[in-house]
Order: sequence, then C-alpha cells, then structure tokens
Amino acid sequence: AKEKGRDNAQFFTPEMSNIVTKKFGFEKEINDALASEQFSLVFQPKVFMEKENILGLEALIRWNHPTKGLIPPADFIPMAEESNLISRIDEWVIDQALLQQKAWRDQGLRIVPIAVNLSGRHLVSDSLVPYISQKLIAYGIDGCLLEIEITEGVLLQDIQRCIEVMAELKELDIRISVDDFGTGYSSLSYLKRLPLDILKIDQSFVEECDRHIEDAKICETIIHLARSLELVIVAEGVETAPQADMLKSLGCEIFQGYYFHNPMISADIAKLLIADHVI
Ligand code: C2E
Ligand code: CA
Ligand code: CA
Ligand code: CA
Repeated sequence: AKEKGRDNAQFFTPEMSNIVTKKFGFEKEINDALASEQFSLVFQPKVFMEKENILGLEALIRWNHPTKGLIPPADFIPMAEESNLISRIDEWVIDQALLQQKAWRDQGLRIVPIAVNLSGRHLVSDSLVPYISQKLIAYGIDGCLLEIEITEGVLLQDIQRCIEVMAELKELDIRISVDDFGTGYSSLSYLKRLPLDILKIDQSFVEECDRHIEDAKICETIIHLARSLELVIVAEGVETAPQADMLKSLGCEIFQGYYFHNPMISADIAKLLIADHVI
C-alpha cells in the first residue's frame, strides 16, 4: 500500500500538472473556436484530366486564432483526435460543408460532391450516421453530394464496426474514400470487405513519380489495384505537369493538387463553378 501511495504521489509532479493544464487549455481554446467562428473551410477541387473539369471538392479546415494567427490542421487535429473534441470538430465540418452545398444550390450553381475528412474515432461512433442523416434532411441535400475521406489505419482498428457504419452511409448514398492510400498498414484484405468507392494515392508517391521509377511503379500498382477492385482512383498533391503526365500515362484520370487548383475560399469556388463547363 505504501508503494502505491508513493506512485500516486508521483503522479502529481509539476511536469504532469503542466500537461493537464495544457490539455484543459487546449479544450477551452477549441470550444472558444467553435463558439466564436474561428474555424472556416477552404475547398480544393478534384478535376477530371483538365483544370476546367471540376468533379468534386475536398473541404479542409482552417483555424484563424485571434492571437496565434492561422493554425494549420496538422497542428491541432491530431491533438483533438486524442479527445472527444474531434467529434465536435468533425460535426462542425459536416454541417458547414452541407450548408455550403445548400447555399451554392440556392445560388443556382452547378453542384458537385464535397468530401470531408473524418477521424476514425468519430467514424465508428453511434452518433455519426444519425447526425449526417438529420443534416441532409434539414438542408434538403442528397447524400450523393457528400463524400467521406478516412485514412487506412482507421479501417483496421475495428473492421466489423467500420463495415456496419459504411453500410449505413451507403444507404444514404454517401461515397467513401480511402485517404493517403499506401502509407498505412499493408493488409489489403479490408479493401474487398469494405464498401469503398475511391482510393486516393498519397502525395508522398506522387511527389517523385516523374523522377523515380520506384515511385512510378508504386503509383501504377495502386492504380491497377483500384481498377481491379472497381474503385475510382484519385492522385493527390499533384504539383507539376510532369507528375500529372506520368500519372495519366499510368491510367489515373482524377487529380487534386496545386498544379490544378489550390484550396480556395467558397467565393472563389463559386466563380469556378459558374465558369467551368459541365463534362
Ligand atoms: P489530407 O486529407 O491528406 O489533405 C491534403 C493536404 O494536402 C491539405 O493540407 C492540402 O491543403 C494539401 N495539398 C493540396 N494540394 C497539395 C499539393 O499540390 N502539394 C502539397 N504539398 N500539398 C497539397 P491541409 O489543409 O494542411 O490538411 C492537412 C491534413 O489535416 C489533411 O490531410 C487531413 O488529414 C487533416 N484535415 C484537414 N482538414 C480536416 C478536417 O476538416 N477534419 C479532419 N478530421 N482532418 C482534417
Ligand atoms: Ca483528405
Ligand atoms: Ca490525403
Ligand atoms: Ca495526408
């Protein structure tokens, strides 16, 4: 018992209480951010072959902090994923994306699907599907205008639950995309067990695909795999013409990246959706 007591005492070291304070500080900051509209979404087009042919958009969160300025998602999403805060952020993103769809539709613009990034923790929660379906009804938006991007690692943690949730999402006509494909665990058996629609080749393979044969081979393998499983393939992080040309020659037709379009605020997307021709 004495030993135990000592361990307990050690728990409250200055270092630990610092971590605890930091954690509560972070939670408060996220709550403030949600309450006072510090978050916003930008949208990056996915194109079919050419810059002009916009097939869809990916919503990406931005945090405009009152004193720290613009904080990139990589600096707060992983920390939010360690707590329930990520569900609140993800729900905010879904709500905003669907509200945006409604606004563009009400403006008479051509509507394309919007993909949102969801954390795996939230994907398997009981509240996700009811939340989405309630929002789709409230805004009068078809499920086929929403797409969900999840990373590979997530899928393997609780595959049975993933299959269930994804089946429910499919019933709503929502498409499911595997993000950062090729960077996670290498078990491929889940690909055929899950009702997936899209594979996104990770930008780390795209980056050197025009310069290194190994990277080109990996892209080619992923493209063939997607094709044989009847999945749509998207290359992300495409920055140059040689990268796009190489990927085209390997059979990829859908692209996302700075070479085509940067992530943009909604007003700039609206201009593009007016200007582009329907394919
Ligand atoms: P991701 O889902 O893989 O998103 C792609 C990232 O690559 C985005 O960074 C995007 O701005 C960036 N990007 C786009 N084109 C290019 C390119 O040509 N070259 C390069 N080098 N980068 C490009 P961002 O917006 O900083 O997001 C980083 C990550 O944060 C995302 O990676 C995603 O995992 C996460 N994230 C972003 N928004 C959300 C969100 O709303 N919810 C959740 N849960 N995660 C999000
Ligand atoms: Ca993504
Ligand atoms: Ca990605
Ligand atoms: Ca990524």
